[in-house]
Amino acid sequence: MNRNKYTNALIENTTTLRLKLMMTAVLGLLAIYSLSAQKTILHCGKILNTESTGLLSEMSIVVEDGKITAIQKGYAPGSGDDQVIDLKDQVVLPGLTDMHVHIESESSPTQYLERFTLNDADVALRATTYAKKTLMAGFTSVRDMGGSGVNVSLRNAINRGYVDGPRIYTAEKAIGTTGGHADPTNGRKRDEMDDPGPKEGVINGPEDARKAVRQRYKNGADCIKITATGGVLSLAKDGQGPQFTQEELEAIVQTAKDYGFHTAAHAHGPEGMKRAVLAGITTIEHGTMMTEEIMELMKEKGTYYVPTISAGMFVAEKAKQPGYFPPVIVPKALAIGPQIADTFAKAYKSGVKIAFGTDSAVSPHGDNGNEFIYMVEAGMPALEAIKAATLTPAQILGVSDQLGTLTEGKLADIIAVPGDPTKDIKVMTAVSFVMKDGKVYKQPLH
Ligand SMILES: [Zn+2]
Repeated sequence: MNRNKYTNALIENTTTLRLKLMMTAVLGLLAIYSLSAQKTILHCGKILNTESTGLLSEMSIVVEDGKITAIQKGYAPGSGDDQVIDLKDQVVLPGLTDMHVHIESESSPTQYLERFTLNDADVALRATTYAKKTLMAGFTSVRDMGGSGVNVSLRNAINRGYVDGPRIYTAEKAIGTTGGHADPTNGRKRDEMDDPGPKEGVINGPEDARKAVRQRYKNGADCIKITATGGVLSLAKDGQGPQFTQEELEAIVQTAKDYGFHTAAHAHGPEGMKRAVLAGITTIEHGTMMTEEIMELMKEKGTYYVPTISAGMFVAEKAKQPGYFPPVIVPKALAIGPQIADTFAKAYKSGVKIAFGTDSAVSPHGDNGNEFIYMVEAGMPALEAIKAATLTPAQILGVSDQLGTLTEGKLADIIAVPGDPTKDIKVMTAVSFVMKDGKVYKQPLH
């Protein structure tokens, strides 16, 4: 009996001790948690809510661990270590997405020499400055529509926090056909031309097409970009003719689907554009000579249009400057550049789904916001243009549950501008506050 009593007492004591230890551990964890869960509270003079119309006044957005945890009326006071940011004289919006950039390069009269003079490391280090400019302009996400593959490393470096930049969804290297736009050896002398294949993103036939897509998967791409027609800035004569067969396009789109990729097609002329839409491409880039028939087809198929008016304006302007572009490019730039704004106006009126894209690299990185001005000038209401750079990209990229709107539970990609963009769209080029993943990169000067 005594022994049992003693044993029971011992068990009781041990249990109490265990409970005490557990309590201490829990309290310790809570203390650590409350330290790490420091909040950032944004006092927003106005919030432009892209899900409804109009502005919400005097609101607070609470950010914790990279996410929006609360959006509430009034200016919530912070407590303890909370960081409070005064945006009372600003209009707050979701972070912007540019669906067409090339983060590795920027056009200049010497651009065509660079492939012989720059190493990958040179390209990569320079690209970090383009990434930063893009982020500071309020673009917290971009879709990279093709480079050398350095764009994959840059995406990873940004995600790991080594470099400041937008989150990058990259096509790695664009896929073209021999001699087509995106054949990397176009314009070289014969013994420099070589014969690039699917590994380098150059295909001839459906089998090559499948291999090129699989290679992009292996190389770490997020999506697939093809050059369905000739292009302005390649060292080749034709800027608009079709460059893929229907079978090749279908092989690309179907293989891309197997790997969870969406697809984008650069297209100026109507024949290549129509083939790409018929093959089930997700987005048409530039779309310069889009006919009414193609617009109808795009609406039927749910194809998105990414206009890149900025690129059209830029090349048309620079083509007039002697020596800026090599001679083979000048007539293409003059013919194609000025048409994009008109095509965009028609496509918008016709009801084609539109996503914001600039083709920055053609025009300078960091000037991405100018596209809003061009879109509004061409007849799109400001709120629609902003949706084209927030809601719509999130849908195309398959991240609507994380990005695209200011919503509790989504990632804290938030920007601010110094006025109401629905009254003056130019404020979109003067982004005053940038937060990505809950981290502040830019703040207004007070
Ligand atoms: Zn492009």
